[in-house]
Amino acid sequence: MKPSFYDLNYSDLETVIHQNNLNRSAAAVLFNWHYKKKEAAQCFDNIAKSSLDFFEKNFDFSLPEIDTVHESTKDRTVKFLFKLKDNHKVETVLIPFQNKYSICLSSQVGCAMNCSFCFTGEQGLKRNLTTSEIVGQFLKAWRWLATNRPGEERILNIVFMGQGEPLHNFDAVKKACEIFLSQYGTSIGVQKITVSTAGYIPGLKRWSQEIPRVNLALSLHSTLEEKRNELIPINKKYPLDEVLTYIDKIPLNKKQFITYEYILIKDFNDSPADAKQLGTLLTGRTAYINLIPFNAFPGSRYQPPNLDKVEQFKEVLDTFKIPTLIRTAKGDDVLAACGQLNSKD
Ligand code: SAH
Repeated sequence: MKPSFYDLNYSDLETVIHQNNLNRSAAAVLFNWHYKKKEAAQCFDNIAKSSLDFFEKNFDFSLPEIDTVHESTKDRTVKFLFKLKDNHKVETVLIPFQNKYSICLSSQVGCAMNCSFCFTGEQGLKRNLTTSEIVGQFLKAWRWLATNRPGEERILNIVFMGQGEPLHNFDAVKKACEIFLSQYGTSIGVQKITVSTAGYIPGLKRWSQEIPRVNLALSLHSTLEEKRNELIPINKKYPLDEVLTYIDKIPLNKKQFITYEYILIKDFNDSPADAKQLGTLLTGRTAYINLIPFNAFPGSRYQPPNLDKVEQFKEVLDTFKIPTLIRTAKGDDVLAACGQLNSKD
């Protein structure tokens, strides 16, 4: 099988071109064609026929296929089910905000973390996605917008909050980020990519050195060891205090912060006392809190919190002067909200 063109970052592409004595300008032309213009057809921009023939002959240009599309009638959220070459499926969500979109990408088929509140975890881990399958979700969603919502094909934020634990598939995720950030590629703005982790320390150890221009979000959900162990089983292996020592070492530039995600679950972690512990833990840290009311899914063992509890929780955090956002569920009518992604047949 030919290697995928979409597995190459810019420097890989330059290496291929150099090793095969092709014209150096082909790298920028090809990246531009595929990632900036996002053309589906063969590149016919300003490129030597010999270079074009070489890539056509030696590389695969196919991308994951869109299997189904669910459009929310409530808020224009779009959920894609992609079919991969080996027939596995993954989901991707486009989340609208002010005529623009954020895209929520998957990094694995299923997930090994087995978090007790997450629908994806029930699938177990099937396999890692390749870089081309990650980048492909973006390109296909962009093209879908161009066709179905012309003029709206503006995806300005990328979040790795779909299926999978991105730091458990570090190399492929890192390369996808490099393609997204490349000035010759999609040139997504700096600080417009966020990778969310359950606290996978082997990945956090590599973070500062290897993907410094990407934002990090930690799924925190409880400050208490026993409760966090129940919610996120890998907390037993990678306990929160250790996770935080690695996160605290990440160098942040002026406008950057770490996002702490906190799912509010009814009568489990939604009391004012929980909020106070959270505020205390994050005081002195460059933190931004995302409060996510738990989203129910078929068979889930937890309940969403009452709305007044959510407000109350935020009010306590406000007294700590930590910026806090209540993340309202989008796309929940098509099971596209956080933790509702499950692509099992
Ligand atoms: N594995 C990564 C990324 C995937 S989850 C991580 O754990 O961060 C992305 C976000 O969705 C996380 O904050 C996760 O905790 C949240 N989430 C998962 N299931 C949810 C549910 N049922 N309701 C609300 N949020 C959920």
